Parts: sequence; structure tokens; C-alpha cells
Amino acid sequence: MASPQSIGYTGLIYKIAIPSPLRRVFDYLPLDSATHLDPGTRVQIPFGKRRIVGFIIGEADHSELKLSRLKHINAVLDEEPLFPPEIFNLLLWSSNYYQHPIGEVLSAAIPGKLRSARPLHPQKMFWRISKKINSKIIEQLTRAPKQKALIELLLPSEGLSKQAILDQGFTQTVIKSLQEKNFVESFEQQAPKTITAKPPPKTNLKALSLNNEQAAALDAIRKTENKFECFLLDGITGSGKTEVYMQAMQDQLNAHKQCLVLVPEISLTPQTVDRFAERFDCQIASLHSGMTDNERLASWTSARDGSASIVIGTRSAIFTPLSRPGIIIVDEEHDSSFKQQEGFRYSARDIAVMRGREESVPVILGSATPSLESLHNTELNKFSYLSLSERAGGASTATMTVIDTAETILDTGFSDQLLFKINQHLTTNNQVLVFINRRGFAPILNCLSCGWIAECKDCIAQMTVHTKPPSMRCHHCGNSQRLPSSCPNCQSLELGTLGVGTQKLEQFLQQRFTSFPVMRIDRDSTRSKKKFESMLDEIRSGDPCVLLGTQILAKGHHFPAVTLVAIVDADSGLFSPDFRGQEFMAQTITQVAGRAGRAERPGEVIVQSRHASHRILRLLSESNYVDLAKLLLTERKIAVMPPYAQLALIKADGPQLKATIDLLKQIKSFSTQLIQQSESTISSIGPMPAPMEKRAGRYRSQLLFKATSKPIMQRFLTQLVYQIESLKVSTGVKWSLDVDPQEMI
Ligand code: ADP
Ligand code: ZN
Ligand code: ZN
Repeated sequence: MASPQSIGYTGLIYKIAIPSPLRRVFDYLPLDSATHLDPGTRVQIPFGKRRIVGFIIGEADHSELKLSRLKHINAVLDEEPLFPPEIFNLLLWSSNYYQHPIGEVLSAAIPGKLRSARPLHPQKMFWRISKKINSKIIEQLTRAPKQKALIELLLPSEGLSKQAILDQGFTQTVIKSLQEKNFVESFEQQAPKTITAKPPPKTNLKALSLNNEQAAALDAIRKTENKFECFLLDGITGSGKTEVYMQAMQDQLNAHKQCLVLVPEISLTPQTVDRFAERFDCQIASLHSGMTDNERLASWTSARDGSASIVIGTRSAIFTPLSRPGIIIVDEEHDSSFKQQEGFRYSARDIAVMRGREESVPVILGSATPSLESLHNTELNKFSYLSLSERAGGASTATMTVIDTAETILDTGFSDQLLFKINQHLTTNNQVLVFINRRGFAPILNCLSCGWIAECKDCIAQMTVHTKPPSMRCHHCGNSQRLPSSCPNCQSLELGTLGVGTQKLEQFLQQRFTSFPVMRIDRDSTRSKKKFESMLDEIRSGDPCVLLGTQILAKGHHFPAVTLVAIVDADSGLFSPDFRGQEFMAQTITQVAGRAGRAERPGEVIVQSRHASHRILRLLSESNYVDLAKLLLTERKIAVMPPYAQLALIKADGPQLKATIDLLKQIKSFSTQLIQQSESTISSIGPMPAPMEKRAGRYRSQLLFKATSKPIMQRFLTQLVYQIESLKVSTGVKWSLDVDPQEMI
């Protein structure tokens, strides 16, 4: 048999990744032999009948393909790779770890504008004096003063951009007349690439003097001397974590380095950006989903070329290249929005830690309610633990009480005791925050005669009744329908609602506390940024009012005049089918509670529950979040669940349930063979229908794998995915893999 060397082509070829679900790279011949292309460089290549943008991944001196089957690269789009080697390695690592095609990973990591054949620094038109000109000619121009002035402007320069000339008040016609006389000529050049940021001020007058715990935290961060170390900054709400971040950032700015800050949702935390802008006299680049493609590209470029000293962004900003990396900060590290739930399902928090290691910079993960994963990493001494246990600026922490509602008749969700408390706080000139956990609490339309319940036609889920405008909506797929006037099942006219949602509570509270405004803050009411801002202004005025809302209220906002936080019903989170349900509920209660009494007024937290003696509520009211987290960790250890095990979830969805289950059965049989061959300790659960079996018209099922170590899981998944790729999947059925899943629905 001939050796493979003799079949294919021998000579320089490049391995190129393209943005497609194909988990492979393609061989291409160089454009010319003069330029050597580094990994991460974008190129344009012929692909089928199209020309597409791909990335150089590596090179080889041999291809399995014959020369006649190999094509040349069409064009090289970047003079240098878009990513420095550290970030390129990070992207390769992420592609392997999350088992996602490298082409899609690379494409997700760059601004949308660069996914086309657009150069990073487009050529611009410049004008300069042509060689033929001399002083005699200039004198002859006295009758054309504008032309003379332009010559005088251009003479001392090596050329000016067309825009710069127009900006000086010259018209297109003036340039043209000079060009016709051959006095000036145009040339193309790239805009300057490396822009140096202005040197930072050495002293910072605005920094607060730190309390002992803050000072100890900052000291520990300083001791890293710019080597990699990951810190978990566990600080209760209002303990001054942001102040610690800012002083650690100041150190980096003084050393002429850049800071990368990740936040869960910029639209909900504009204060962080404002606080940085107020504190630091340097360029701050933001990166988030609310930006246009051009804004995004501009921010990304300013991070990459070093003109922005601070880069603040959401999840995807973790891949932004920096020219002078100094520190990475992940605020609210427990927040599930750092995990991408679709497509390339990465955790920006976990990648931040890997990135710190690659770039040799310190990483700070901050939270008032750290994730069990991060707490576990401090136990393993992988992360250093820093704690801020008291509120900065002297504000006292809120007390928490639980009202047992097991035997109580509630009025629209409220006990008399809670209504009395709300009244008491409002009439003593304070603000009240009423929190409702929307999951499972939205009002459901049902028939009082036959028990019929309105369900979404495309999901296995109930429709939610909305009053503004009157309609039923599915919160899983967005279906919307008019409210029926009679029961479609028995034609009875007696239709009622079950459960309470924000709109129903809003109505009730308005009728009950007529002299105080009730402000509803949820996804629906905050859709308009202007409206939300004006609501925030009213709240900041400090006048007594009721703030009513969902999850959004648990994120980022400071409400200094709030003295009472009421959690209407804690029970859905306490008994969730998701293994993270209790952790999530404890975080939510603690985060919402943290909004109370931030200034000089002491706060109070009241939780209603039909299970008042539940250990989560007991531990939170009698002790604190970290003690509770430790208990949850012990339980996870016994159950061999994350962070003591690693999970990977294979999901399938399609037009019929059976086809999805069948696909997962085949995958399961592959996995059984692999597990037997390698004798590794991997267990599987399923296939089974997903907790939400049907969503947006598609049936869903899942197969869960559990391993006791990450390397074992990695090896297994790589082999398994390779085998799944060779499967013929029935039409309409799709599969995906979620490594370290956050949610199992
Ligand atoms: P966190 O980020 O932990 O919620 P912040 O950094 O926002 O806390 O601080 C809460 C409040 O306390 C802010 O108003 C901040 O200005 C103030 N603060 C923080 N550190 C100090 C300090 N050392 N001395 C006085 N006030 C402080
Ligand atoms: Zn009916
Ligand atoms: Zn639906």
C-alpha cells in the first residue's frame, strides 16, 4: 500500500477554519510565497461557489488532497492576526473545552463587521503636494486664494486625509482644481494603528480611604505583582467591592496597563460605567448587545490598539484583545448570564480565569453571593478568598424575618402582617420594595366550571395573563392571543385567574395604598430606556413609594431610601426540580435583601413562605449566605454533583419527540462503548424528555453525562462528538452539547 505521503500534495499549505458547524479545518495553498501567515489571520477563500472569510489555524507541509483539488487563498485580510497569541490560544482552548467548532468560536469572538471581508483599518484617501510644484507656481496662485491656502496647508505636511482637509473649510472643488493642474496628488494609506493612550495622572484624589477589610483585599491583589492569581472577593452588598476594584484598577492605569471589567448586564448597571467615568480620566470602551455594529467595532478596536484603558462589557467582551492587559474583573460572578445558553455555550467567568492564566494577570471575581463553584475553588486553594463582611460607610445590615403563610388566608398574595408593615414603612416616609419571583407565579387563566387551563399551542407551558393590553402570552416562545370570552372546553363564561403576577400585584397595591405611587419594574416596563430612567429618577428623589418587580430588582441597582424589602413568596425556588434551584433562590433572596437600607436608615427584610422552617430560610435569617452555601456544598458532595462532578448535557429537538429520543439512544449506545473501552467513571442519565418537553413548536429531550474529573470528561466528549458527527440525523432534528450546563430546562 502506498504511504499517505505519496498520495497527496507536498508543499506549504494552510489549515483554515470557517464559520460553520463543521468540526474540521480545510487545506488551502498560500496566496503567494512571500508572506507568511500567522494563526488568527483572516483570509478570504473560495469555498464551493462562494468566497468566504476564514481564519488561519496553522500550517503543514503536506495535504491529503491532490494538487488539482487544492485551491489558493484569494486574499489576506489582516496584516497581522486579529488576536495576540494568548487570546488565540484561549479561543482554541474554549473550542476544545466546550466542544464547539473553532470557526464559529473565532467568528463569535470578533465584532460582526469583521466577519465580512472588511479590513480592520480600512484604507483612507490622503492628499499631498506633487513634486512638480515650486515657489514660483505658488505666487501665480494669488488670484485663487483658496487654492493657495490649501497648498500652504499641505506644504509642511507629508499628506492630509481628505476628511481633515474638508474639516478645514476647503471644498471638494478646490482639491479638484489643484489636482487638474497636477499640483496635488492623492494616495491611499491606512489610518494610524497604534495609538498611545495619554499618560494617567499619578495621584488619585477621588479614592476613598479604605476600611481594614478593603485595605487587606487591595494589599493581597497588589502582592501578585502582576502575575496570575484568581481572587474571590466575597463582599456583602454595599461593602465597597466596587471601591476595591477601582483602586486595583488605578494601580494598573498608573502602570500604563488596561483593565477588563465584565458585568452581567450593562443596561441594568449603568451606574458602574458612570462611576468609572467619574473616577478615571481615561478612555473607557463599553461592549454590550445594545450597541450598533459600528459602535461595537470602534470599542473593540480601541481595546485592541490600546487607546481605551478601561474596557467594560458583558459576556462576549471576555474575548476582546488588549494590547497592554493588566487585570480582569468579573463583577457579580455568580450571575447566570455569564453562561451563554445557545450556540457556543461558554462561561465567560470560567474563561476569564483561563485568560488571566494565559496573559499572566490577576483576576478578581466579586459577588455578595458567590457561586458554589467559586467557593469550592477557594477551598481547593485554586482561588484566594477575600472577604468584606461589613457595609462600608457605616450603613447597618438589614434584619430578615420569615412570615409563615401555611395557615394564613392571603389577599392577592399578601398576609395582613406584611400589609401592616408596608403601611408602617410608607407612612414613616420610607420606600418599600416588593419582590416577586416571576417563575411560576404568573397568573394563569382557568375555567371555574371544568378546570380547563389556557396552554400555549407550541409549548408545554401555561399562558400568562396580561392586563396591559389584555391578552395571554407565552413567556417561553412569545406567542400572544386574545383572552377568550368563554371556556373553549365547556363554554362556561366563568373564567378566572390563578396565581399572582406583577400586573395583578400592581393593581392591588395601588388600590390598597392610594396615597403612594406604585412603580412596576420588570422586563415589560423597562423596555423603554427613557421610561425606566424617569422611574429611577423618581425613586432616587427618595419620596415614599412602592417598587414592585422581578429579578431585575436583584441586579446592580442602589435604592438608598428603601427600608423594607418584601419577598412575597419564596416557595417556588425552594422546591425547584433544578439541582441549582436552592442555590439560585438563596442568591436571589440575599441580592434583593441587599437593596434595603443602604444609607443611614436601617433596613428590614420580610419573606413570606408556606415553609417558614425550611433550612434555607432559617439559615439566611439566622446566619448568612456563606454558611448556607457551605451546607449546600456538603450536599452536592454527597450527591456527587457540581462542583464535585462535571456535567455535560446533550440536547436534541425536533418536530416529534420520538425522533429526538431515538437520536439520543444512538448517542447513548456510542457512549456506553466508549465508557467500557476506556474504563472511565462516567455515568449517564436518560435519554428523557426535557423538563420543558415542548417549546416553540419543537419537542425536546436530553441525555446527561456525569464525570468525576474534567480531563476524563474532556477525552470522552471529544471521542463522542467525533462519533456523533458521523451519524445520519433524521430531518428536522438538531442536537447540541452543553458543557457545564447552568440550566437543565
Ligand atoms: P459594593 O460594590 O460592594 O456593593 P460599593 O463599592 O458600591 O459596594 O460601596 C457602597 C457604598 O459605600 C458606596 O456609596 C461607596 O461610595 C461607599 N464606600 C465604599 N468604600 C468606602 C470607604 N472605604 N469609606 C467610605 N465609603 C465607602
Ligand atoms: Zn370549562
Ligand atoms: Zn409557547
